[in-house]
Amino acid sequence: MSNHIVIVAERKGTTLRRVTLEAITAATKLLNNQVSTIHAFLSGSDNDISLISSAKELLQYGVHEVHIAKHVHFEPYQATIVLPALTDVISALQPSYVVIGHTSHGRELAPRLAAALHSGYIADVTKIESSADKISFIRPIYAGKAFERRQFQGVAPYVVSIRPNNNAPATIDEHVTINNPDEHIHQVNCEGIQLTSIVQHVVKRINEGIDLTEAEIIVAGGRGVRGAEGFAILQQLADELGGAVGASRAACDAGYCDYALQIGQTGKVVTPQLYIACGISGAIQHLAGMSQSRTIVAINKDREAPIFSIADYGIVGDLFEVVPLLTAQLREIRQ
Ligand SMILES: Cc1cc2nc3c(=O)[nH]c(=O)nc-3n(C[C@H](O)[C@H](O)[C@H](O)COP(=O)(O)OP(=O)(O)OC[C@H]3O[C@@H](n4cnc5c(N)ncnc54)[C@H](O)[C@@H]3O)c2cc1C
Repeated sequence: MSNHIVIVAERKGTTLRRVTLEAITAATKLLNNQVSTIHAFLSGSDNDISLISSAKELLQYGVHEVHIAKHVHFEPYQATIVLPALTDVISALQPSYVVIGHTSHGRELAPRLAAALHSGYIADVTKIESSADKISFIRPIYAGKAFERRQFQGVAPYVVSIRPNNNAPATIDEHVTINNPDEHIHQVNCEGIQLTSIVQHVVKRINEGIDLTEAEIIVAGGRGVRGAEGFAILQQLADELGGAVGASRAACDAGYCDYALQIGQTGKVVTPQLYIACGISGAIQHLAGMSQSRTIVAINKDREAPIFSIADYGIVGDLFEVVPLLTAQLREIRQ
């Protein structure tokens, strides 16, 4: 096995995403106490000067070498476009593993990379178990109803995508000084890359809030919230807790909130420390997106609602009474 591991770095704007720091932790687990080199692949547009500062940040977080791929047509979340550059880096390094966040970008990129490399791919990994002689990957199946343990067979490199919020993010070791960081930052030659398509125009949604997939606390609303005004009450609780607001598909379908908030089988998959489900019945398709949350609190006026079967704490009551009470209580504690 090669002693290289490559992580694919993702950024939100100019900030490294938390899942990238989690990928560094995952890479460290995969090292299994062996002396290895962690490489990061970072891509962006050729006029993006912030790539260098992100690369230096990655070095501080424990990455040993950073490979920057810049191209006039590179957009951060265009998997097909960055794929040739990434494949070149992987082919040159021949790492044992490539670790990618199981984000919307990673879900598009990882299987394509595995196909391009003729490699094995284990997706949506929530836990890595490493012992002296083997490394196993735990991942949920059947919409989170069961877990399976997998191992790679055949020839490396192996591609792994990790579910956000399941590994502790890497931290900066204040005692380590990186001498000559520029020597550890390499430019990938993208000149000869043949792109099969280019992005001509991107319209970005302005979203200042916390990214749902990386949120530690989520207050989610369902059809029981009854409208956009109901979601304002949930937002107040989320703000008080420093969390994000999510929703069931029924709430999105009814137009109470944006589809960007949808959690579930056809929405986002989240693993926060605390998930507060308000007026959500607990349909299997919703559970597929949130059942791995560390602590689940359900507020529902129907004591028979299925959500209570997976909740750690259940409150049978009207959310329009319970949620404002919780918010007020939190405010009082803070004062
Ligand atoms: C292929 C497919 C994919 C799907 N993907 C998703 C998905 O990704 N995400 C998703 O969420 N769903 C998805 N669904 C839909 C899913 O099956 C359910 O219809 C949906 O999750 C129900 O949303 P809900 O719990 O908000 O609504 P309901 O099932 O209508 O539940 C509303 C709940 O609110 C409670 N309630 C009402 N008023 C109050 C009140 N004042 N106080 C407290 N409680 C109250 C009720 O008791 C009830 O339990 C999918 C369905 C299909 C077929």
